[in-house]
Amino acid sequence: MAQSILSGVLSFVAEGVIVCTSDGTITLVNPHASLLLDYTSDELTGKHVDDMLALTFDSSPLKPKERITYVLFTAEKVFTVPRDKVAYLTSRSGRKFPVFISARSFPVEGNMVGVLVFRDITNEKELEKYKNNTARRLSELTPFLQRAATGDFSIIPEIPYQEDEFTELLVGLRLMTEDLHEAKRITEEYSGRLEKQVEEKTQEIVQARIHTETIIENLTDGLLEYDDEFTLLRINRAAETLLGVDREEVVGKEILPKDTDKKHWQSIINVLHPALSSTARKVKYPMTRFNAEVSEITVQYPLERELQIITVPITERTTGKQQGFIKIVRDITREKSISRSKSEFISIAAHQLRTPLSAIKWTLHMVLNDNDGPLNAAQRELLHNGYETNEKMIQLVNDLLNVARIEEGRFGYDFKKGDIMSVIQNVIEFVKVPARERGIEIEMTSSKEGLPLFIFDTDKVTLALENLVDNAVKYTLAGGKVSLDASTRDEYLEIKVQDTGIGIPQKQINMLFTKFFRADNALHMQTSGSGLGLYLAKNIAMRHGGSLRVESKEGAGSVFFFRLPLQAERIPKGDISLDEM
Ligand code: ADP
Repeated sequence: MAQSILSGVLSFVAEGVIVCTSDGTITLVNPHASLLLDYTSDELTGKHVDDMLALTFDSSPLKPKERITYVLFTAEKVFTVPRDKVAYLTSRSGRKFPVFISARSFPVEGNMVGVLVFRDITNEKELEKYKNNTARRLSELTPFLQRAATGDFSIIPEIPYQEDEFTELLVGLRLMTEDLHEAKRITEEYSGRLEKQVEEKTQEIVQARIHTETIIENLTDGLLEYDDEFTLLRINRAAETLLGVDREEVVGKEILPKDTDKKHWQSIINVLHPALSSTARKVKYPMTRFNAEVSEITVQYPLERELQIITVPITERTTGKQQGFIKIVRDITREKSISRSKSEFISIAAHQLRTPLSAIKWTLHMVLNDNDGPLNAAQRELLHNGYETNEKMIQLVNDLLNVARIEEGRFGYDFKKGDIMSVIQNVIEFVKVPARERGIEIEMTSSKEGLPLFIFDTDKVTLALENLVDNAVKYTLAGGKVSLDASTRDEYLEIKVQDTGIGIPQKQINMLFTKFFRADNALHMQTSGSGLGLYLAKNIAMRHGGSLRVESKEGAGSVFFFRLPLQAERIPKGDISLDEM
C-alpha cells in the first residue's frame, strides 16, 4: 500500500527517482527516470543501479569508490557530484546529457535503502555557458569602452568570424566608433583651422591696435580717456604738452576736483571737470554721429591757453551702459585770437564808416529836399541813386556791426514780454513801399484765436523778420506774392514767410545760413546784398531757443519757418553764436 502511494506520488515528480536496496538492486523507478534513461521501469527494476546508470564525472567513468552503492552503503555517505566536476548520464539511445544527481540511504523496516534523484540540466548548463560567454565578451569590450569614454576612438572592436548574439552589438559599436573617430578627426581638423584663424585675427587686431595707438599718440589734438570714476586710462603726447602733465604720474589715477593742492594738475582737472571751471563755456557743435558735448575753457597752466574740449561718452555696445569718456582737447588760442582781431577790425572799420555814411545820408537828404535850391530831373535822379546806394552801405555796415557783436558775445539781448503781432505789422509797414513799387502783393494771416503774449527781444526779432520779409520781396519777381502767417505750434510761435520768388538752388540750400553766403541765382538778380541777413536771423532765433528753417524750390519760391518758444524756460542762459552751432 505504502509502495503504491509512493510510486503514485513519484510519477508526478519532474525529476528522475530510483530506489534501490543495499546491494544495489533497483526496486522502484519513476516515469521521469525511465524517460531520461530510455528504459522502461520493468527493464530497470531488479537490475543493479551502478550498472544501469551510465554515469561519468566530466567524461571519466566513476572510480570504484565513487560508485553509488559504495558511497551509500559502504562509506555510508551522501552521494553527490564533486564540486569541480559535471556529471553526465548516457541514455540507452546514446544521448549524453549533464545531470544534477544526488543519493541518500535510509533505513526502511530495519534494511537500508538508497534513494537516487537526478535531473537533466542541459538547459541550465547552456544558460550558464551563455552567461559566462556574455561576461567574457563584455569584459573583452571593457578596455574599448573605457577608452571611448575618454574620447579615444583609436581601438575599433573586432567582429568575430562566427556570428553570435554579440555580432550585431559589435557591428553597431564598430560603426559608431568609426563614425566617432571620423567626427573627432574632422573636429580636430576644424579646431586646428579655427585656431589658426583666431591667431590670424588676433594678429590683425594687434596690428590695427598698434596702428590706432600710433595715430592717437601722434594726433595734434590732445586725447584723454577715463572711466566713469574719473580714473585716467590714457593720455596722448599732445594732451601731456597742452596740460603740462606727465603720463607716468597721471595714468591710473583718479583725477578729482579736490586735488587742488597739486598745482600742476590744475589744467587736467579743469579739462576733466569743465563744468566746475569758471571760464567754461558750453558750445553747440555740428557733431551728429557721437553724443558729443563741446565746451571751451581757458587754462593757465603750463601756459595761458584757450582750449576746446569735445567729450564723447563711451557706451557698451550691447547694453548701452556708460563706461567712461574720451576727451579731445584742441588748442584754439590762436583761432580765437584771430577771430577776435577779425571782429574787432570789422567793428572798428564799421564804426569808422558809419559816421561819414550818416553824414552823406543827411547831406543827400537835404539836397534832395531842395533845401539848397531846385534840382533838375537828371540831378535829382543821380542824387537819388546816390542816396539809395548810401542806404545800402549803411545797411551793410549795420549788418557787419551786428555780426561782430554776435561774435564777441556783445549782441546784448533784452528779453521782455511783448506782442508779436505788432512786431509783424511794423515789419510789413517797413516793406510795403518797396513791395508796392515792385508790384508784389503782401498777405498776412494768423490764428483766429489770436496770438499769446510771450517773452522775446522785440528789436532783435524785428531785425530778423525784416531780413526775412525783405528777402522775400527782394527775391520775388514783379507780380509775385509774399504771404506771412503767424500761429502757435507745439509750444512755439511759428512765423511763416512764403514767397513765389526765384527759390534757392537745391545744392546750395545747406550753405544758406553761413556768413556772406549768397546763392548763384540771387547774385544774378540782385547785385547788392551782404549775405549776412539770414545769418543774423538764424542767430536771433537760436538765441531765443527757437529755430530758422527753409523749404525752397528753385524757380518756384521759398518758405522760411521762424520759430520762437512761448515758454521763457526754453531761452538759453549763456551767449551762443552760429559759428558754434
Ligand atoms: P542777402 O539777401 O543780403 O544776399 P541774406 O543773408 O539775407 O543776404 O540771404 C543770403 C542768400 O540767401 C541770398 O543772397 C539769397 O541767395 C538767398 N535767399 C534768402 N532769402 C531768399 C528768398 N526769399 N528767396 C530766394 N533766395 C533767398
